[in-house]
Amino acid sequence: MKTSPPDIDAASLLDPADWESFRDEAHAALDVALEHIRERQAQGVWQELPDRARQVDAPLPEEGEPLPNLVGELQDRVLPYTLGNIHPRFWGWVNGTGTPSGVIAQMMAGAINANMGGRDHAPIYLERQVIRWMQDLFGMPAGASGMICSGTSTATLLGLAVARQRATGGEARTGGNAVRPGLRVYASAQAHVSVDKALELMGLGSEALCSVPVQPDFRMDTVELARHIEADIAAGLTPLAVVSSVGSVNSGAIDDLPVINRLAREHGLWHHVDGAFGGLCVLSDVLKPRLAGIEAADSIAFDFHKWMHVGYSAGCLLVADGELHRQTFQTSHAYLQGERQGIAGGSPWPNDFGIELSRGFAALGVWFQLKEMGTRRLGQAIYRNCVQASRLGECVEASEHLELLAPVSLNIVCFRYRIPGLDGPALDRLNRRIVVELQCRGIAAPSFTVINGVVAIRVAITNHRTRWRDLQALLDAAEALGRELLGSPDIGP
Ligand SMILES: *Cc1c(COP(=O)(O)O)cnc(C)c1O
Repeated sequence: MKTSPPDIDAASLLDPADWESFRDEAHAALDVALEHIRERQAQGVWQELPDRARQVDAPLPEEGEPLPNLVGELQDRVLPYTLGNIHPRFWGWVNGTGTPSGVIAQMMAGAINANMGGRDHAPIYLERQVIRWMQDLFGMPAGASGMICSGTSTATLLGLAVARQRATGGEARTGGNAVRPGLRVYASAQAHVSVDKALELMGLGSEALCSVPVQPDFRMDTVELARHIEADIAAGLTPLAVVSSVGSVNSGAIDDLPVINRLAREHGLWHHVDGAFGGLCVLSDVLKPRLAGIEAADSIAFDFHKWMHVGYSAGCLLVADGELHRQTFQTSHAYLQGERQGIAGGSPWPNDFGIELSRGFAALGVWFQLKEMGTRRLGQAIYRNCVQASRLGECVEASEHLELLAPVSLNIVCFRYRIPGLDGPALDRLNRRIVVELQCRGIAAPSFTVINGVVAIRVAITNHRTRWRDLQALLDAAEALGRELLGSPDIGP
């Protein structure tokens, strides 16, 4: 007797049983999302999280709930308590601000649900288009390749793996680092920790990183770089790569790319650029000349989710030698083999250029942003932030109680509150407290860092919503808090 599988009732499918009412609920959710962007800006930049926002002991749901309940729960315990990076007064760390149309891009990507690991489908060509635009924008040579990935940390790891591929003639893929002991990587003392992490993951260890001192302007001291490379060669070590910073974390300094290019070429090093936020200064006609030399780098890592305001997360790696890039990651497993025709066509696939196989459609958000805004408008928003930073720096210098702690190179201003009679650890404590109070009172969100051994209030402006009045409010509040907190017992002289 033949059995036929029982028919499935509509309610047990994962698609909506009633598309019409689902559509209404989905439209209402979109309204909530867009209203959030508008309303969140009128609230404080951040607030202490109530217990219900921190709660993580809810039971695993056995039965489902309707969509409006879920949206309601988000409105109650998530939307008011977000980081604040979509707020005009958020300047902590380096965060992107997002755009309302970014919501639409992520919604469309969700609908398509593309797996961007490979195969032949239209979304792959949208990603290739974005990569080609970026290669042109950065002036990469013919034959260059690119990869959209989760961010600059990943892009730097991938870029340094390509560097090792070249240095070991590909042998590291099979023999590991043992095939070429003593590989060395150079970066300035102001470089991002993602460089250390990349070396740790590559099995070279963070001790393979030579931390090159910086000049007073926080750019890598290239005389020291040359000295270290030569000393390492003399000691029998093998210089692998130099990582330059285009926009260093603390102060936004841009390393001397032409000199680093020359030193890299002379000694056979790979030149990788960490341009996480600063790289996209190429979008501004005014700022672009400061990045001269970037076109001759071997690889460039940067983020779309920072200064281009694409929704999280989207970063990019560009590699001048696309063939070498492919050789670093391509595999030949039968079930992933390409075909000339059919769905398995379209070789080479994105997974031939990185480590992720299944990948999301982050490229859609980038494509959307570039098509909707155009490079001119995006570049102007970047330049505006630099003008704001420079004016903020001037105001700090003009103020009696504020002290500028690093030259303003790009979009980052590091300063502190200062009053005669208070210094050392007490002054550091006071400035930390100012930052925490600015955040907890919802006034503004700078972060803090340490510059030349002292605590600094750090304002990194990658925010297209910031107006001068927001920065003026920060200045006023920082001075007022300095005065107010000076008397508090935990500061003390
Ligand atoms: C943010 C940042 C990184 C890391 O990028 P992610 O996208 O967060 O992984 C690396 N370098 C610099 C200079 C950065 O600002």
